[in-house]
Amino acid sequence: MAETQILSGKVVSEAVYAGLEDRIHILKNNHSAVPGLAAVIVGEDPASQVYVSNKTRRFHNMDLHSETIRLPEETSQEELLTTINTLNNDPVFHGILVQLPLPKHIDTDVVINAINPGKDVDGFHPENLGRLTAGKPRFIPCTPKGIMRILEHFHVDPSSKHAVVMGRSNIVGRPMSILLSQKQAYSNATTTICHSGTSDLRAFTTQADILVAALGMPEMIDDTYIKEGTVIIDVGINRVKDDSEKGYKLVGDVNFGAIEGIAGGITPVPGGVGPMTIAMLIENTVEATESLFV
Ligand code: NAP
Repeated sequence: MAETQILSGKVVSEAVYAGLEDRIHILKNNHSAVPGLAAVIVGEDPASQVYVSNKTRRFHNMDLHSETIRLPEETSQEELLTTINTLNNDPVFHGILVQLPLPKHIDTDVVINAINPGKDVDGFHPENLGRLTAGKPRFIPCTPKGIMRILEHFHVDPSSKHAVVMGRSNIVGRPMSILLSQKQAYSNATTTICHSGTSDLRAFTTQADILVAALGMPEMIDDTYIKEGTVIIDVGINRVKDDSEKGYKLVGDVNFGAIEGIAGGITPVPGGVGPMTIAMLIENTVEATESLFV
């Protein structure tokens, strides 16, 4: 059985943090600027609470500024827009993130459009997605940006390979497909994007040299979806019930046991894409701060 390489995002994220230290030092010492993030969370969704506290904890660990604005589930869209407007105009915050999903009575697009694109460190504003599509990115969405760094770190060069992206969300799948097909180093792949309208998924995925699974379907991808040597990026974070004290465990979109020894490499869950999403959020916030001084 061939060995499947574990592509640890945790390892790559530590290298990112080390590389940011000098840039943060310059911002603090030369410009008296401490990169600051405002994280807005509406409602009590337990997974969202965990994501936000993981993100902000890293800001504190790195002596950066972050504040979490917790709003009740019944917050109206107007109230949320007022909060965002206040944050847009507060110079303490260089980045703003609104944790998704929002409660159903709030129109997510309206809220994202209200964020100052120059502070949109998640990269979800249409102006930032448009710039990415045009090959002139400002803020690149954190998860796909982090995945590109994992590929580069482990010398998985997408150039001239077939990359298949499963999922077309604006957060992961679609920007991922754009990043993989740019005419530049460590990109330049022939890219296919699959989704729930794809009639025969395996017809595409079994051709993939690089397979990005961003479905939200626990352990759906097994050996029948890949060929020998496929490098798999498992983006999924799914809670499945178990007998542990917490009552659940986290699994990816890929069944690791089934692909082990066939895939060329895989990002683990946890410890793969997740840590890179946070590292890229910090990098984007540092970039937002630096942009004030060029
Ligand atoms: P999403 O908005 O629900 O999008 C899922 C995509 O997968 C959609 O395009 C959907 O197709 C497609 N899909 C779902 N089931 C499918 C199936 N059986 N066959 C083919 N296509 C299918 O989810 P997301 O926000 O992109 O997130 C995807 C996963 O990544 C989730 O598990 C999420 O928790 C995880 N995630 C992880 C990180 C991280 O840092 N590791 C960050 C973000 C998200 P349609 O478009 O047709 O509905």
